[in-house]
Amino acid sequence: MKIEFHGADQDVTGSCHLIECAGKRVLIDCGLYQGGRELDEENSEPFGFDAAAIDCVLLTHAHLDHCGRLPLLAKRGFRGEIVTTGASRELARLVMLDAAHLQEEEVTRQARHANQRARGRAMAPLYTTLDALNTLEFFGRTAQYGSPLAIAPGITATFLDAGHILGSASVVLELEEAGARRRILLSGDLGNAGRPILRDPAVPPKVDAVVMETTYGDRLHKPIGPSVDELYAAIGDASRRGGNVVIPTFALERAQELLFYLRAGVESGRLPQTLQVFLDSPMAISATEVFERHPECYDAETRELFREKRDPFALPGLHFTRQTAESVALNRIAGGAVIMAGAGMCTGGRVRHHLRHNLGRRECAIIFVGYAGRGTLARRIIDGANSVNLFGEEVPVRASIHTINGFSAHADQAELLVWHGATGAARTFLVHGEPEAMRQFGARLQGTRVEMPARHQAFEF
Ligand SMILES: [Zn+2]
Repeated sequence: MKIEFHGADQDVTGSCHLIECAGKRVLIDCGLYQGGRELDEENSEPFGFDAAAIDCVLLTHAHLDHCGRLPLLAKRGFRGEIVTTGASRELARLVMLDAAHLQEEEVTRQARHANQRARGRAMAPLYTTLDALNTLEFFGRTAQYGSPLAIAPGITATFLDAGHILGSASVVLELEEAGARRRILLSGDLGNAGRPILRDPAVPPKVDAVVMETTYGDRLHKPIGPSVDELYAAIGDASRRGGNVVIPTFALERAQELLFYLRAGVESGRLPQTLQVFLDSPMAISATEVFERHPECYDAETRELFREKRDPFALPGLHFTRQTAESVALNRIAGGAVIMAGAGMCTGGRVRHHLRHNLGRRECAIIFVGYAGRGTLARRIIDGANSVNLFGEEVPVRASIHTINGFSAHADQAELLVWHGATGAARTFLVHGEPEAMRQFGARLQGTRVEMPARHQAFEF
């Protein structure tokens, strides 16, 4: 039996790991590389394995960097079964369709701007909406947390709650080949304990080897209480100055978590009753609807709100702006609005329009609440750029910039160490992190052989 690494290797995106056991091939995640433009090319490169030879995909969660190359996998010949939780299946559908739509739009945009000669060259999206729809046909059995599923003779998978986003899971694989047995645990992305809505990550079992994420392997998060205080203060200050607040938001989880805190803030009087909040992301709106359908994933506090028939995500001044015209109309609001829009790293999407209208105004505030990858617009603003280019125009950075990292959907170094300690794993493969975070995290691990796989590297068990 062996494992091969085909993504998120010394990098935070493109998760894709291949397990071979007893003649079967099981893929854990098939995510998209995200960030700079050069990554678009990496996405179209060969996977490093034959898509048609994959028997099953176990999907840990619905973030694009974990499910975003599934339509490409199907397009290249995959005909097996995709297994995931009920909530992940619904969210992955949204995420893949959205990704396909964005790629189609991007190709149209490029074709419009290309000169005559370039136009002759074929430009094609990585995959189309039709490819994404076809992929949905391969979603088979629904995984329940804690219930083992027979994947193939010699391969059993158990999904455990990873507490990262709705429906997220770590996967324990029981492998048997020629009389040898191994237990491998793949972390998926691990959540940050004590956050609202979701349960904390499940305590993992003892295993022989672990493949784990290291997004925040070198950092400790600030506790959530002060982060919420900071959020309320930044919103309060901006509204007193007569400005808007723009929050670049990941559509899954972060948007719903912010709604949860904004509702709590208005209810407790810490935010003005008149606060106008715009969720300016069709995908975040749809994702919020999926959340409402999966209370089985909630922690006790959120289940209690639902039992009392109180919607944890609804506040009096909340507006869902699905249509483009509604989004454009937000540009006319001078102050008093909180605008949540994607993409979270500002690499595209409606948030770039809101930045263009608010970034140059001293009375406004931009609040970053999530991870910002290297090379992204979000990272440049966070790192203190004096001005940034938006739609071919140099926009000065005059708004107050806030980075509030207590909302992270990822475990921090201390949480990752505790989680790893519970596994007792003799071998550890670190993935899904920047090299420095990985190195610092690896240095803290004891009694385990640590590997930081390179792209397409394989290891025998
Ligand atoms: Zn994730």
